[in-house]
Amino acid sequence: MFPAALRLAAFAAWAPVVLAAAEPVPHVAPSRPGAVPTSPVAAASGRRALLPAIRIAGVDYVAWREVAALLGMKVTWVESTRRLTLADASAKVELTAGSREVALNGLRLFLGNPTVLRGGALYVSQTDFERSLLPRLRPALLGAPPARPRIVVLDPGHGGIDHGMENKQLGLQEKILTLDVAQRLKKLLAARGYTVVLTRDDDRQLGPDKQTDFLKRADITNRAKADLFVSIHFNSLYPDTKTSGTETYAFTPPFQRSTRAWSPGEADDVEHDQAPVNRFDPWSALLAQAMHREVIDTLKTFDRGQKTMHSAVLRGLNCPAVLVESVFLSNDAEARHAATPAYRQQMAEALAAGIGDYAETLGKLQPKAALPPAAPAPSSSP
Ligand SMILES: [Zn+2]
Repeated sequence: MFPAALRLAAFAAWAPVVLAAAEPVPHVAPSRPGAVPTSPVAAASGRRALLPAIRIAGVDYVAWREVAALLGMKVTWVESTRRLTLADASAKVELTAGSREVALNGLRLFLGNPTVLRGGALYVSQTDFERSLLPRLRPALLGAPPARPRIVVLDPGHGGIDHGMENKQLGLQEKILTLDVAQRLKKLLAARGYTVVLTRDDDRQLGPDKQTDFLKRADITNRAKADLFVSIHFNSLYPDTKTSGTETYAFTPPFQRSTRAWSPGEADDVEHDQAPVNRFDPWSALLAQAMHREVIDTLKTFDRGQKTMHSAVLRGLNCPAVLVESVFLSNDAEARHAATPAYRQQMAEALAAGIGDYAETLGKLQPKAALPPAAPAPSSSP
């Protein structure tokens, strides 16, 4: 059973409400004629918010029950574990009260705000709902989709004097591996008809320092008019040699902490301005899910989750973008895999499949094709 019903039924489904009070109160008309309270995503797209929100500790939240009703999903609440499940024929979402971690179709996903149990109802932040969960569950509700991607920019992490992570024992450098995977992926995508641009096609740094290097990569991407961007990396946690697995990152939405900033001792890194890439948050989420799914399924790596970060390489991009931390060079077993061309080929194939899945989803979301042009008018000359 789910906690007691939330008394929001009286609200019109499309009338968003942003309240200062902790508990839902009746809808108040906008104070200014024509003013419509909107959510972050809705504001960016000129739409109204999909669900009414209440403010809890300065963050706008929507009720899971409302989410379930909107999406037509069945809700199950288990009081003993404070765990809620939403399910329908095609998807299953599992979450826990007070936690940021969600299992979406079995894949781990970290929210930007913990869920909140209040007044017998469970809430998710509006930003998480609109920029992270809705895209992964019902991209058709997001509004006009980007065109099916044609131009893909691949970004082999590091290069030149920046070696990235290393496994000295096995003689592995991240910058060499990322370039190799990117070049393999380029071939696969080109064979499928994509125009593919690499931010670097040899062992070089793109700027005199890291910051300039990142900006240069973003600039190359924007100049190429990329439809999507994938940055490829290998992970490391020395002296920890046990940790293994795959993480997929998108840029952190405005007004949220990055995933890392939730760790003990880390500073709050909330940004209050929208970065250029934030305009594509929902589509980056959809892309992240597709990439993460394919890598986890293909390489059978441990699922370390879909996360967000304030990556300087992603910040200025004019397209949906993800950064994949494929496997750990500090983990002996994963490093030995990464050292083999066959494994890197498999990785490239998984990334290509992820891009393919994303493109296919966008293809299905495109508006119906226009009618074929009318027959040409009869020629005026005989
Ligand atoms: Zn890296």
